[in-house]
Amino acid sequence: MRLLRSTDLALRLLMRLAVAGESSPTTREVAGDMDVPYTHAAKVVAELQHLGLVDARRGRGGGLTLTGKGRTASVGALVRTFEGEGDVVDCEGAAPCPLHTGCRLRGALRRAQEAFFAALDPVTVTDIVRDPTGPLLLGISRRPHDA
Ligand code: SF4
Repeated sequence: MRLLRSTDLALRLLMRLAVAGESSPTTREVAGDMDVPYTHAAKVVAELQHLGLVDARRGRGGGLTLTGKGRTASVGALVRTFEGEGDVVDCEGAAPCPLHTGCRLRGALRRAQEAFFAALDPVTVTDIVRDPTGPLLLGISRRPHDA
């Protein structure tokens, strides 16, 4: 199963903010750290704010901080939210598959999808920035930004 780009970016932004300590990087800085377009990062930050996982303060001295809820957020819950829980195969799209009313493969794929999410449910944002990831994130966050 391949994650949407926005799901992966949401996780990367949360990881970056989880190691920010007392600093509050801006969306532009975080986008630079993660080598993603600013507009894409801004959209994902807005969604993370809406979910209560990130605080964003505007103006001088402003920036992004991870909330307590963001720090303990379940990776599985986050992936479910960003991916949605639709089928991994589009069985009933514009040209419905002739097997869609009684397909055993469809059921097996649904169970596999749920197992994928379930494996990520107990993993938190804090878990995924433990060594060696946290120090690596701190290293890349010190790079000069293009923007
Ligand atoms: S074969 Fe089954 S899983 Fe595949 S598209 Fe058809 S109904 Fe869906």
